Amino acid sequence: DVHLDELDPEVAAEIRAELHRQQSTLEMIASENFAPVGVLQAQGSVLTNKYAEGYPGRRYYGGCEHVDVIETLAIERVKALFGAEHANVQPHSGAQANAAAMAAVLQPGDTIMGLDLAHGGHLTHGMRINFSGRLYNVVAYHVDRETGRVDMAEVERLALESRPKLIIAGWSAYPRQLDFAEFRRIADAVGAKLMVDMAHFAGLVAAGLHPSPIPHADIVTTTTHKTLGGPRGGVIFCRQELAKKVDSTVFPGQQGGPLQHVIAAKAVAFKVAASEEFRERQQRVLDGAAILAERLTRPDCAEAGVKVLSGGTDVHLVLVDLVESTLDGKQAEDRLHRIGITVNRNAVPFDPRPPMVTSGLRIGTPALAARGFGAEDFAEVAEIIAAALKPSFDETAEADLSARVALLAKNNPLYPHL
Ligand code: PLP
Repeated sequence: DVHLDELDPEVAAEIRAELHRQQSTLEMIASENFAPVGVLQAQGSVLTNKYAEGYPGRRYYGGCEHVDVIETLAIERVKALFGAEHANVQPHSGAQANAAAMAAVLQPGDTIMGLDLAHGGHLTHGMRINFSGRLYNVVAYHVDRETGRVDMAEVERLALESRPKLIIAGWSAYPRQLDFAEFRRIADAVGAKLMVDMAHFAGLVAAGLHPSPIPHADIVTTTTHKTLGGPRGGVIFCRQELAKKVDSTVFPGQQGGPLQHVIAAKAVAFKVAASEEFRERQQRVLDGAAILAERLTRPDCAEAGVKVLSGGTDVHLVLVDLVESTLDGKQAEDRLHRIGITVNRNAVPFDPRPPMVTSGLRIGTPALAARGFGAEDFAEVAEIIAAALKPSFDETAEADLSARVALLAKNNPLYPHL
């Protein structure tokens, strides 16, 4: 029963330091969020000790009576939350959910289509050295250079030419909603299956603030830790006719023992996501992103070469385009880091700068909304970011903006009792 502080003071100290970092800075990485304390408790529980290969009621180990109840709760809650026929809550991550979902409907060598990584797609949507690019023949589609939106005419043309078995719709860095019905029409026209990876926007879908892909897609995958605000992990949804195939592809196809502590934390997160408080919070996520996009499209930003991809956002993130700025993505990320705002640099479509530098920033609002930020706070954050990206940024500005960031953090406490 030795406490972590005693057992391993080095790790304990870093966990405390990380808590302090999360509390005292503004987290704006679009794929991050703050899990509720109840989720942390479930994930840090004795369930981590349990082997439970198989599925509820059909395990290969004894002693599964409690984890069976928990996993069933997770499945039933997430099915109800999204109106899905079948859900598998065992994937350890989003990448593993995608690997299993694809293996359930594809053979190695089959052709798939996904959004190009450099245009906002995910590694698992066909990047060359990812499993998806190695196992499958990838035909990537892109965004339109002028509008910054997915070029559906190109999607249709490429689908007709390459006759893919699977079309993947979904993104990691894209500020707009996708037209799922149009993807379905194109998939049907070429006899392809449609998979939607809603990892980024699942929380918005759960709250009813973003169209749901569930009615349109054969398979939907998600992570549980982004807008959905739960523990790190993945989920696969599908129609009943694919249920057996998906389940057997996850286990024993791709994974061994499920992470029952994480599945318990997922169950808690799904309960939270069905609440009115969660819906209200997702509305603040969207409002915050819209406030940020509006601020960064004003003339003073344009003069500094700062633009917003696609001219705005309908989701939880804004993609800042620095192609015409003297500041590159790396320098902009470092500048924001210095004043206490964490974001990630991100390549923009047709980016002239190298991938380690980039000409963009991806800035998201879910984590700040989770700590209570409302419209006024987001307006202040937007002013701070706009000021930090200007050529006039100097040491005086840095001190002023850092103090304003610290005040916002103080006024919106995170994990006050941890
Ligand atoms: N799918 C999308 C669209 C993502 O953005 C991500 C995460 O970045 C993933 C899948 C992979 O999730 P994980 O990091 O849990 O493997």
